[in-house]
Amino acid sequence: MLFCDYVWIYGVGVIKLFDTAISDTVPMVFSPDETIGMYVCGATVYGPPHVGHGRFALVYDILWRYLEYSGYKVIFASNVTDIDDKIIDRANREGRSWRSLAAESEEQWWRNMELLNVRKPHHTPHATDYIDQMIESIVKLEEKGYAYRLDDGVYMEVGRLSSYGLLAHQNLDTLRSGARVSVDQSKHSPLDFALWKAAKPGEPTWGSPFGAGRPGWHTECVVMASSLLGDDFVLHGGGLDLCFPHHENERAQAQALSINFARHWIHNGLVEVGGQKMSKSLGNYITLEEMFHEHNPSAYRLLVLQSSYRSPIEVTADLMNDAEKALERINALSRRLDDIQNSTSYDDLQLSEAMSGIDIDEKRHNFVNMMDDDFNTSSATALLFTSLRQANTLLDHHDVVSGYRLGKFVVEAFIMLGIGNLASTEAIDPKALAIVEARDAARLSRDFAKADELKSQIELLGYRVEDSTDGTKLRKIN
Ligand SMILES: [Zn+2]
Repeated sequence: MLFCDYVWIYGVGVIKLFDTAISDTVPMVFSPDETIGMYVCGATVYGPPHVGHGRFALVYDILWRYLEYSGYKVIFASNVTDIDDKIIDRANREGRSWRSLAAESEEQWWRNMELLNVRKPHHTPHATDYIDQMIESIVKLEEKGYAYRLDDGVYMEVGRLSSYGLLAHQNLDTLRSGARVSVDQSKHSPLDFALWKAAKPGEPTWGSPFGAGRPGWHTECVVMASSLLGDDFVLHGGGLDLCFPHHENERAQAQALSINFARHWIHNGLVEVGGQKMSKSLGNYITLEEMFHEHNPSAYRLLVLQSSYRSPIEVTADLMNDAEKALERINALSRRLDDIQNSTSYDDLQLSEAMSGIDIDEKRHNFVNMMDDDFNTSSATALLFTSLRQANTLLDHHDVVSGYRLGKFVVEAFIMLGIGNLASTEAIDPKALAIVEARDAARLSRDFAKADELKSQIELLGYRVEDSTDGTKLRKIN
């Protein structure tokens, strides 16, 4: 077996994941002192990100946070595809430079990620910064006899790789018969893919031993992943739509170059609309910004947490409203705990005995077991909400010590999963925000009558007003 050099970790627990390559749930394999290298196919920056993009970013952010919570060191790389047919097409259509379109779209991407509380990976390599390495890689493939040249570029000959089709779980013959007949009849097989695309008018190009042109998309990830994480790293992820052919083609190049590459392949389910993948090409998408106008970004994270990462999800207004209500329950508990912490009797409470006999260690243990079982955030989140209800009941029945400790476990677990800044993440009506600004100005000029009048206007919009040294603070009234 390939993995005999590694020790399976038995620490907090063995983390198991569904590995697409073997179509089974298996223990994650890495040595005890190893930094977990994790690579996820990232954004192609040619327009605003939609809800489907948000999902994959959230899934791998949650996975990364959980691995760190489990005590492991992680190095996370996720690429930015800044040269691609879609970028060139849109830039040409709009008569603008592809570089400025890519830069602007990337900025928009990170702004949206910040709102989702998705942390920036350690490495965010750009395709255009790795052109030389990609050329080197294609030269090697050519030398080893895996690549051939045609007038329009250099192609990878997949028929020379016996394990091609491993991720798709189909053999070469089946894949070949199912492949669309290539427009370019000179390709050796319709499955062969472009490593290098020869220069076309109106397209950016780079010089290479195969003539001017630009690299194919499948080449960038294999080159960047192995450059940043080494030739043998733990985890490669991406949306299920990338499994074939993109990931299969990455694997094919790695295998041809005799690189071990990813030990595990993991794929998240897609966001669907009426059973169809949400995608720009189908035009059935909602951008994240559109969603954020209506809903709290943290509610989307919660919705993703409440689903199995491998299943398709539909993101409806009803589901988002439910997630917002659930988020508010976490917020309310968080505020309740803050109030206890700020109370005069808090120090005494620390010394008091809990009464309920609730075993918080056992709850934590169950939570960890669920997360270790293929990142089962759906069950783990359900456990947290059951505990949230229990904590509130204990507090209602004046068992403050037990309620507080259980509540802390719940809130801290949600923070670990990225539901951060709990009391301040409510989506606030822009109208209310405008009045807040006017009210702060009125208070500053000591016009308290006006400030009071504006306070009533804010309350009418459904917010409780609290004054602080930083100005007016709002809390949504349920
Ligand atoms: Zn990729």
